[in-house]
Amino acid sequence: MSAAKVDANVSEIPARIAELGQRVLDGGQVAREEALELFALEDSADIHTLLSWGNRIREHYKGNKIHLCSIVNAKAGACSENCSFCSQSAAYQTGSPRYSFVDPEPVAEAGEEANRNGVTAVGLVAAWRGLKEGPMLDEVCDRIREMKDQGQTRPDASLGLIESQEVANRLKEAGLECYGHNLESSERFFPEHCTTHTFEDRLRTIGFLKKAGIKICSGGIIGMGETREDRCDLAMSLREIGASVVPVNILNPIEGTPLAEQEPLPPLEILKTIACFRFILPRKEIMIAGGRTVNLRDLQCMVFQAGASALMVGNYLTTLNQPVEKDLQMLRDLGLDPDWTEFDPNDAGGCGCDEKESCAPTEVSETVMA
Ligand code: SF4
Repeated sequence: MSAAKVDANVSEIPARIAELGQRVLDGGQVAREEALELFALEDSADIHTLLSWGNRIREHYKGNKIHLCSIVNAKAGACSENCSFCSQSAAYQTGSPRYSFVDPEPVAEAGEEANRNGVTAVGLVAAWRGLKEGPMLDEVCDRIREMKDQGQTRPDASLGLIESQEVANRLKEAGLECYGHNLESSERFFPEHCTTHTFEDRLRTIGFLKKAGIKICSGGIIGMGETREDRCDLAMSLREIGASVVPVNILNPIEGTPLAEQEPLPPLEILKTIACFRFILPRKEIMIAGGRTVNLRDLQCMVFQAGASALMVGNYLTTLNQPVEKDLQMLRDLGLDPDWTEFDPNDAGGCGCDEKESCAPTEVSETVMA
């Protein structure tokens, strides 16, 4: 009697995962409460079933193309903000390098290296609160133009908060196609890791960028002590803002920061989170970024089986990654093609549903900016 009950439960969960997975393959969406069912999975066999659906959804929408990104830190350390995971905040003693906005040469070198490695995009990253009109914006626009002239690698930027439409428009005029601005976590959890600016400030920046016609690269960091519900809500917010690229960072605790002693997430929990993101954001580039080497170790290659379609390669801002050659070999071994050169032409910057008209990017930005 009880054995029959166990068997029924055993088949119910894979059937439920399959039902939701098939709906996503057919162009439908999972609702928040349904996604929470997936985040709540505990049993290893169920999680592996979920991963295989994450893989199927990735293959369906992304084929075997893997988008590669790298970053160059154009201004390091001494940041006025207090993000508790970040070694570049002036609020913490971390021994992280500090330098002001770099000359053209290191940026040009990073662009050349990215070109050589077949990297799709190289992001110009600066540790400061944000970008205002003035000489610094002129310099940033110059670097973007120089990188654009340099070759096939697309120059992206991640330069913090933007407080006016004019700044976003100037970046667009300089040739910027995509701006990185993570939401970092759920709206509820955000004040737990940053009090110098708000979740709403980040949404407003994204609104300006979208109105300027710049694509959004926005994701977050998992493993900061947030709940599964927070992770689900982060993915839901990313769906709402119409992020085109969704970086998933996994906390790499840095000595000197408030999160230095944070317990790491188990690798299966990380892979499950990636698969849940793929269910919620089926058509987006889900990119595994900082913290993968230290947190996933030998399971790194499973991020693609979980549904990831993009990878941050080269060193991160303040921590080391495995060599690019090793990542390229990993992709070849998996039969994946590390040669993705354009944005998905079907991605209009909406939430990824089939209602493309009602998901126009400006509509989202106006809501955000209201
Ligand atoms: S995450 Fe960005 S804004 Fe926050 S402290 Fe680090 S560099 Fe500054």
